[in-house]
Amino acid sequence: MTGPVAPISVAPAVRPRIPAARFGARLAQAQAGVAERGLRAMLVSVGPDLVYLAGYEAMPLERLTMLVVPASGRATLLVPRLEVAPARACPGVAGGHLDLETWEETEDPVDRVAHLVGGFGSAFAGRATPDRAAVSDRLWAFHLLRLQAVLPGAVFVSASLVLRDLRIVKDADEIALLRLAAEAADRVMWEIAHGRLVGRSEADVAREVRDRLLAEGHDRADFAIVGSGPNSASPHHEASDRIIEAGEPIVLDIGGPFGGYGSDTTRTIWVTGGDATRGPDDEFLRLYSVLRAAQAEATHAVHPGVACERIDLVARELISAAGHGAHFFHRTGHGIGLEGHEDPYLVAGNAEELRPGMAFSVEPGIYLAGRYGARIEDIVICGDDGPIVLNQLDRDLLVVTG
Ligand code: ZN
Ligand code: ZN
Ligand code: ZN
Repeated sequence: MTGPVAPISVAPAVRPRIPAARFGARLAQAQAGVAERGLRAMLVSVGPDLVYLAGYEAMPLERLTMLVVPASGRATLLVPRLEVAPARACPGVAGGHLDLETWEETEDPVDRVAHLVGGFGSAFAGRATPDRAAVSDRLWAFHLLRLQAVLPGAVFVSASLVLRDLRIVKDADEIALLRLAAEAADRVMWEIAHGRLVGRSEADVAREVRDRLLAEGHDRADFAIVGSGPNSASPHHEASDRIIEAGEPIVLDIGGPFGGYGSDTTRTIWVTGGDATRGPDDEFLRLYSVLRAAQAEATHAVHPGVACERIDLVARELISAAGHGAHFFHRTGHGIGLEGHEDPYLVAGNAEELRPGMAFSVEPGIYLAGRYGARIEDIVICGDDGPIVLNQLDRDLLVVTG
């Protein structure tokens, strides 16, 4: 991000999609997981698990939408009558991979779910081993409490028992979407970093970030952190009315879903206002070079078989050795995919080994409270032989007029 020339790939005219047949394969894998774990069924409500299995992005309503995946036999998507048109169009249903049923306003949808899973629970209450059903993590407690009432004796467990292992490894189409998301966010970052900044409010810049993310094809602009001056020391700073001044850093952390898959990238820049005496001070330059090395080494350490916590440790040791250990107080990264933050988490205590196809951020930061801070964040795929870095903008400190 040093030159005046955008580094930059252009957006493709046609956005790739997850092939419809893939949903059939995912449903089959999920069903096998339900059977293997001795579950009676998996109950998936509105949210990323439903998008993963059926390609159905439904509105989170008080009216129940539920995909019922039994241990054997056809899966059924139960939706409120008024949602039937979008439900019918989703690839899971349109591709013939699951059956669609609707419930009427006067019916109890939880009762229908109980029937779909074979009315288990009360009928089996006397058994030594209770029937178990998995429910998606995003199922509202409101619905789960009703399910518990209608299915007494059933034991509910998390659907992530089955789905976590499937979702955590991205296939080629998912990686293609993550890459396009990253490239789109890179273009936005480049434009913002090379545009006018000094004299504008953080909130005004954040609005421009959001507009540009949408213009670059994002489904939504979920976040636009613009942390200027002392606000750069707050990792999740909300863009405020603070006016950006010459002679300070700005942490820009932007992203949102693109074709369902998230972008999330951070760059730290320094604005001089065109005054050569207002460049970064020595302490900031030292801080930034430590951070730059930590982010590079942590990325470099990505390899199949390496523990997630190891990536965190690589970054943390370098930052600690420079005396900034206490100023790096968040994990090094989080998984990304259908959710902005998902497994795997690069954090001390997570011994899970990286596998090819895992996607996550590598985003160490150093924050001096009340003064300033910096963070560098890329989305990285664990490749067969090492890291595949999706974000392409230069990571050296960009000093601009602003
Ligand atoms: Zn975050
Ligand atoms: Zn971020
Ligand atoms: Zn992140």
